[in-house]
Amino acid sequence: MALIVQKYGGTSVGSVERIASVAERVLKTVKAGNSVVVVVSAMGKTTDSLVKLANQISTNPSRREMDMLLSTGEQVTIALLSMALQELGQPAISLTGAQVGIVTEAEHTRARILHIQPERVERHLKDGKVIVVAGFQGISSTSELEITTLGRGGSDTSAVAIAAALKANYCEIYTDVPGILTTDPRLVPDAQLMAEITCDEMLELASLGAKVLHPRAVEIARNYGVELVVRSSWTDEPGTRVISPTPQPRSLNDLEIARPVDGVEFDTDQARVALLRVPDRPGVAARLFGEIARQNLDVDLIIQSIHEGNTNDIAFTVATPILKRAEAVATAIAPVLRTANPSPGEAEVMVQQQIAKISIVGAGMIGRPGVAAQMFATLSDAGVNILMISTSEVKVSCVIDATDGDRAIEALCQAFEIREQGSGVRGQGEQRSGGAGEPVRGVALDLNQARLAIRQVPDHPGMAAKLFGLLAEHNISVDMIIQSQRCHVIDGVPTRDIAFTVAQIDAEAAQKTLEQAAVELKWGEIIVDSAIAKVSIVGAGMVGQPGVAAKMFAALAQHQINIQMIATSEIKISAVVAQDQWVTALQAIHAAFELAGSDKIEVPA
Ligand code: ASP
Ligand code: MG
Repeated sequence: MALIVQKYGGTSVGSVERIASVAERVLKTVKAGNSVVVVVSAMGKTTDSLVKLANQISTNPSRREMDMLLSTGEQVTIALLSMALQELGQPAISLTGAQVGIVTEAEHTRARILHIQPERVERHLKDGKVIVVAGFQGISSTSELEITTLGRGGSDTSAVAIAAALKANYCEIYTDVPGILTTDPRLVPDAQLMAEITCDEMLELASLGAKVLHPRAVEIARNYGVELVVRSSWTDEPGTRVISPTPQPRSLNDLEIARPVDGVEFDTDQARVALLRVPDRPGVAARLFGEIARQNLDVDLIIQSIHEGNTNDIAFTVATPILKRAEAVATAIAPVLRTANPSPGEAEVMVQQQIAKISIVGAGMIGRPGVAAQMFATLSDAGVNILMISTSEVKVSCVIDATDGDRAIEALCQAFEIREQGSGVRGQGEQRSGGAGEPVRGVALDLNQARLAIRQVPDHPGMAAKLFGLLAEHNISVDMIIQSQRCHVIDGVPTRDIAFTVAQIDAEAAQKTLEQAAVELKWGEIIVDSAIAKVSIVGAGMVGQPGVAAKMFAALAQHQINIQMIATSEIKISAVVAQDQWVTALQAIHAAFELAGSDKIEVPA
């Protein structure tokens, strides 16, 4: 007999008929000899409608009252589903978040779960009841016992947290799609269902998968080793298994890490190769990394900042033992990449040894402005200069001088409250990502970003901290961040360009904020481009496997798509392209990695 937590999303409980069919499925699970805890969302678009009601009364409603309002949606569903179960002769009881003892921080509209008191649930389970729990809500730990909500999409988080607290055998997330798909099937019709995916991959695919499975839920599953399955409410298909590594034993207090960062990773065995002034046209990155792949050399970080004039700089890091060979390839290819009429000083190769890569990792940084800024500020306070920056959804990596490594690790562990001896610090070779199998699992697309670039930012410690600190103060989340390789000396001061992306709705505010600071901080021009798309490939199997980046870039080059920016993490490569080319880009990459399936995937409109 197993203990199973089943979560049903809004569409799955969107009508009385659907609630009745959920009750049937729950009953079937019970009849098969299992104990079942059900977690539900509000019916259909109820939460959206409640938000609209509030906005008709106030443009800036109190967050406390929003929680009071939005938490009602789930309460409707739990009562109806319990009635439906009782109607089928199955004893059931509905419980609110407070009644289950889902204790959260006192942060209205975005509370994190601190712990869950399982006693009452366990008692009802012993009595043979199905327990129907309102997702998305909890109760504050303060004496006021305030109703809190976990943030939009939070019922996944409720379900996985309950599964962790009850030590359930597994947690099933029922939704209106068959599971996690290789890409968005509305854009690429031959997208395929994945039988399984790791939690780390799932987190990096947040922009693709967040609608299906909330990143915070994935992080809890990973930390507590919850067996997680995402499957369709309409069929009996097995869906997608979301796999977690065997977890370190961990307290059930502070269940959802209140910290945005849960690990610091470092790799001191790296060297950097930079190609300066390569032509800004389709096919250049493909050619360079194609040649490197042919030599069977594995690259780690890849960065291309925005172009300057008609040239780009591309930099990458490799493990020190293969530096000589990587350098040889770069040196051999640099003249080939030159424009027809090279001017003196074109395409040169720069090598730097004794560098270290240091990264902060954590799903908590998604949508939280200021985490990257805090990292940069911490490094700057420790007197560490940042040579390269590359970011992904759940990771910010900085390349620094190797001699600064120890100081940087210590400062970051302290700033982000990571116990240095604990499992939160990982050196080279022990990053939790990595694995065998297909190098690429899925392709994500983000059309809602705009790119900003600041020219000629003085290159000294603290600049990146100031820049991203300013944006954080204005509550603007930054996604991809890239610092150029090329250095211009202006009035005796070395400068570099910094480019990054933000949500399109934040672009204007970001531009204004930065323009106000530009004169004082001696920045150059600020350039904004909203007509961009970010395409990313994700896969734990790409770690240590040469040629993955080359294949992605070649797919883009074949379709004459110019790459405007590149940033990577160990298991992700993102490229920014012009917005009018995104469909082609997505389809070309999906095809290049042979991700297509023959089954037609049905998705609701
Ligand atoms: N009902 C909430 C929302 O729509 C929580 C959830 O469904 O996950 O965001
Ligand atoms: Mg959802």
